[in-house]
This record gives sequence, C-alpha cells and structure tokens, in this order.
Amino acid sequence: MMDGSKDSDSSNLDSLKTYREKRNFGITTEPQPSGKTTGSIGQIFVVQKHSSRSLHYDLRLEVEGVLKSFAVPKGPSMNPRDKRLAIETEDHPLEYATFQGTIPEGQYGAGIVMIWDSGSYQNMSKKDGKDIPISQALENGHAAFWLEGKKLSGGFALTRTKRGWILVKMRDEMADSSRDILKESPGPVL
Ligand code: MN
Repeated sequence: MMDGSKDSDSSNLDSLKTYREKRNFGITTEPQPSGKTTGSIGQIFVVQKHSSRSLHYDLRLEVEGVLKSFAVPKGPSMNPRDKRLAIETEDHPLEYATFQGTIPEGQYGAGIVMIWDSGSYQNMSKKDGKDIPISQALENGHAAFWLEGKKLSGGFALTRTKRGWILVKMRDEMADSSRDILKESPGPVL
C-alpha cells in the first residue's frame, strides 16, 4: 500500500485520496487537507464521538503525517477484558484532529462529530523484543501505544484478527475494570 516512496509529501497526498474522494468540500464542514504533515507536540491522538447513522467513536493516531483511523462502534474501554471491534477507515488529514461540528445531511458521515478525547501518544510497539515504528506495527497487524489523553490514559493495543481489528486496554496501572468511561464522561473535552 505505502511501499516505495520516501517522499513524505507525495505519500501523504496519496494516503488522503480516499478521504478527498468521499467528500465535497464545497458542502461539508470538515477540513480539506492542506498538506501539513507534522503535528504540534509529540504524536497526536484523538477520539471523536460521531453520531451518524449509528453512534461510534473514531480513534485516530498520527502516523507519518496523517491520522490513521479506526471506527470503534462500542467505544474504548479502560477494562482490559473488553475487546472492542475497531473498523479501519480511510486516513484523515492532521487538521481533522481539531474538527468538531455537524457534517451536513447527504454528505459522507452526516451527523455530529464531537471531540470526546484528545492528547498525545507514544508508540510502544515491538516485534521480537525490538522497538518498531508504529506504521510497521500497523502493517504487521499489532500495534501498542501509550495514550496521554484527558480521559484515556495508559497502554492500548490494536490487533488485527480474522474478524477485523480489536482495541484493548493493556494491563497496566491505568487499567480499571470498575469504570465505564463512556458513561462517566459522555461529553466533549474542549
Ligand atoms: Mn466516523
């Protein structure tokens, strides 16, 4: 998919082709990719609560100048026993991390987008005991990362299975099986 080119600008544009094709920027309120490929401080993560045809939570991680995106129908959990299906969706531009508002009727993803959590993350992915870049980890089908959000914190893992990607809270000091973070904190962070 993204092999070959070391030119981050062109691979970034290729990677956002699907994002552009799905949207009419004359109508939608969502950001048009500007070509910006670096975040502010560290690597961005955001979880957007998206009330479209069905409610879901879009987890996005900054990876090589774009936001790798996963739609999580049941949302993230702080309980390591919860396995949450995460459906991989098209890469989004970095500008999307601060987007919230209403996507107009008739447009792709029509409905309300709210920034449910945001912050930075650190890649913790390893293979055979060695650190690997998160882009490679995602390609391999297993990525681990430490979130520093206002609601979510600690280690999380995304694993590709036959039935799709699964998001789980890793067992660490931030894990908490007694909390229902979605009910506890349903509103926006900003
Ligand atoms: Mn969505």
